Amino acid sequence: ITNKPRVIYWFRTDLRLHDSPALRAALDLNPECLYPIWTWDPHYVYHARVGPNRWQYLIDCQNDLSSRITALNPKSRLLVLREGPETILPKLWKEWRISHIVFEKDTDAYGRERDEKIERLAKEAGVKVVSIAGRTLWDSDDVVERNGGKATMTLAQLQTAGKKLGEIARPIPPPETLPNLGELILGFAHTQPIAALDLNASHRSEADKSYETIAGPNGDLGPPTLEELGIRPATTRHRGGETVALEQMNKILADKTYTATFQKPNTAPTAFEPQATTLLSPHHHFGSLSIRQFYWGIVDVVEEFNKSGKGKASVPPTSLIGQLEFRDMYFGAHAKLGYSFSQTIGNPNIRFIPWYLPSVLDDKTGRVISGTYYIDNQEAEVWFQRWKFGRTGFPWIDALMRQLRQEGWIHHLGRHAVASFLTRGGCFVHWERGAEVFEEWLIDHETACNAGNWQWLSCTAFFSQFYRVYSPIAFPKKWDKSGNIVRKYVPELKDYDDKYIYEPWKAPIADQRKWGCMIKDDGSDEFTYPKPMFDFSERREWCLRKMKEAYDVGLHGNDEKVKDGSWRSL
Ligand code: FAD
Repeated sequence: ITNKPRVIYWFRTDLRLHDSPALRAALDLNPECLYPIWTWDPHYVYHARVGPNRWQYLIDCQNDLSSRITALNPKSRLLVLREGPETILPKLWKEWRISHIVFEKDTDAYGRERDEKIERLAKEAGVKVVSIAGRTLWDSDDVVERNGGKATMTLAQLQTAGKKLGEIARPIPPPETLPNLGELILGFAHTQPIAALDLNASHRSEADKSYETIAGPNGDLGPPTLEELGIRPATTRHRGGETVALEQMNKILADKTYTATFQKPNTAPTAFEPQATTLLSPHHHFGSLSIRQFYWGIVDVVEEFNKSGKGKASVPPTSLIGQLEFRDMYFGAHAKLGYSFSQTIGNPNIRFIPWYLPSVLDDKTGRVISGTYYIDNQEAEVWFQRWKFGRTGFPWIDALMRQLRQEGWIHHLGRHAVASFLTRGGCFVHWERGAEVFEEWLIDHETACNAGNWQWLSCTAFFSQFYRVYSPIAFPKKWDKSGNIVRKYVPELKDYDDKYIYEPWKAPIADQRKWGCMIKDDGSDEFTYPKPMFDFSERREWCLRKMKEAYDVGLHGNDEKVKDGSWRSL
């Protein structure tokens, strides 16, 4: 027995070994043993909306991380504990005689709440907590402080705060070795049912009772499989893990002209294989790629490019650095506003618009109750369902929503198109409903970025030019006249002539028959495709009128009239 620290390293938002300030801090303790763990967070596992594709991505990350740990120390690996942190950690501290728990700081509303509880429990148990930022370019709390204690609602605010904070930290090299695991004593493991088990969660099978141990069905604490979880197989072709993330990043950085001259508005939302942007967002979400590693990689390429005489590199907001700054801006807003950042009611920064399908709020917490909403308009409910499942009758919108469901990722401007269509540019459905669908289906779902971008696109916050509506016909045509994205994701229309690919309802009946797909009201079998669910121009005009009215009234999420529902009488 030595007096050296016995450390738990708790992986959460940082499933990587490279450039991890928190992991570096754990190693700097020079521990006698280090237990790398991932806990079964009830919020993630049962309460958040996580579809099979994001689950698979997480499992990929865990498997890859575990192999990379073992490559540095054959006696170590990632231990996946199937129990919530609040109940499992105190048991582990005791059994494993832990002196320190180290993790990457999480500024999400839920993450903070969880970590505050863990810190309290650790204090009671005499365990030291080390929490270090590493998920964003700058620590989001520092950004808020340098922004006068306010949420960052513009890129300029983020940039000014960033300047005050100084240069973004250079990446830390990955460790060359890792300490041994301590003894794996799990005296309590096989009798302990999963904490907060919620078999009503929609994505879980009732049959997975066999899973009620913290060690997994093999008792080995290895990463799970979808089968074990009772989750249907993933359909995405995108793979997770640090190894893939670093390969993908290096490939992008090796294309110096692409990296240096990247301009977001010039990247095609219709491109899918390969896509026009980096597709690194899911790696950033899981922390399998350090944001600062990528940032400095870009800075180096940009400097070299500017010196090369080949031209001038692009600059924020449209450049790659600009994209990373947007991410930090949303993180800053979420860090400040907490739970109220992702809902309208109570949020002072959000304009109130009387959208269809408003949320149901919990009386006690004042928060949106997950997965429920008040159906106040049957027609809008049908539009919402048709939007979600790619059956609107507008091939561009349907292709994107089917791509999203199948693969878990769509291009940023594709996200613009479907978000604008669902909210202010078509259905007038609440942006919170759209954000929930994205939460379930995106492999890169990030609370801060998802809520913030939905607010932007619905013109409730960040952006206010509501008269700029995306046409589901003219917009994609500009990028791809032949509609290849439609042919791929809406295969019913694959033989349609270019002329009708975004407006198939205009094709003559004889051609529809010749091309093997009739355009019918419901489009309910494989040889039919639906007629548009509404006249887009009419809806557009109607939405514009409603937006203007709401802007003129000028209520925000925290106005009393919004909170008590009296806005209805305005
Ligand atoms: P690139 O264009 O290659 O950008 C590089 C990186 O910058 C991305 O990997 C991402 O980390 C970051 N980034 C780029 N654009 C944005 C942006 N607008 N906001 C925040 N970060 C950005 N992004 C998420 O990571 N998670 C989400 O849940 C999410 N939801 C969105 C919802 C809507 C309605 C919209 C319009 C956008 C959303 N975005 C979200 C932002 C953006 O669409 C994705 O980050 C981007 O498309 C990811 O693809 P990429 O990695 O190829 O991006």
